[in-house]
Amino acid sequence: MEWKTIRLEEIGSTNDYARDIAQKSPEGTVVIAKRQTAGRGRKGRKWTSPEGGLWMSVILKPDKPDPRLVFVGALAVLDALAEFGIRGWIKWPNDIWVGERKIAGILTEGRAGEFVVMGIGLNVNNKIPEELGETATSMARVLGREISLEKVLSALLKALEGWYRIFKEEPLRVIEETRRRTLILGKAVKVIRDGEIISGRAADILEDGSLLLETPSGLKRIIHGDVSLRFF
Ligand code: ADP
Repeated sequence: MEWKTIRLEEIGSTNDYARDIAQKSPEGTVVIAKRQTAGRGRKGRKWTSPEGGLWMSVILKPDKPDPRLVFVGALAVLDALAEFGIRGWIKWPNDIWVGERKIAGILTEGRAGEFVVMGIGLNVNNKIPEELGETATSMARVLGREISLEKVLSALLKALEGWYRIFKEEPLRVIEETRRRTLILGKAVKVIRDGEIISGRAADILEDGSLLLETPSGLKRIIHGDVSLRFF
């Protein structure tokens, strides 16, 4: 993959910027901003993005949209963290945690048949916003020293290239690896889906990327939702 980076000082959201240019930009275009003033998580939730973090969006043009692409981003973040000696895990579907704190999030958006924008927000050297209290961490905090944002970026792009290739050739390998690297399987979890709380045991991640939950009233397949581990 030929990566072509567009570097911005400040932008509302790199995903919005990438969406705006996606149609006329080649696959592999990467939008990176030093700061985002309106970074987003899922459902319009705020993603705090001060200077020092890695805030980027990658334009991809897969043959067809596929919700499992989010795992391509998640696995790439895990590999990039591992390059720095940090072991993270995937909190299905789109977050990366280190221990009991969130370090990164992935937000894939797109237009069917045209493009996918994969946003990756990774706390590197940035300050952890106070409002997140004890729930977030950064690479610098984990390592006890600042690290080169450029090195993190190149590790991430290299890993992304590898996982994207695997995804296109053999998507089930992405699911297998996601299963291995998510900590929730076998655990008691609570899922909030459209305001409804479902408790159960996370049994599996299915081939289509959905979460299989064993509940007192039977097996449930969760396509989207927020998962929390009950012991948190
Ligand atoms: P989740 O999938 O965990 O719900 P979202 O994708 O919705 O996460 O991301 C938004 C949430 O992430 C916010 O509500 C906030 O709790 C948390 N958050 C926001 N900024 C950061 C950050 N820089 N690092 C870690 N967590 C963050």
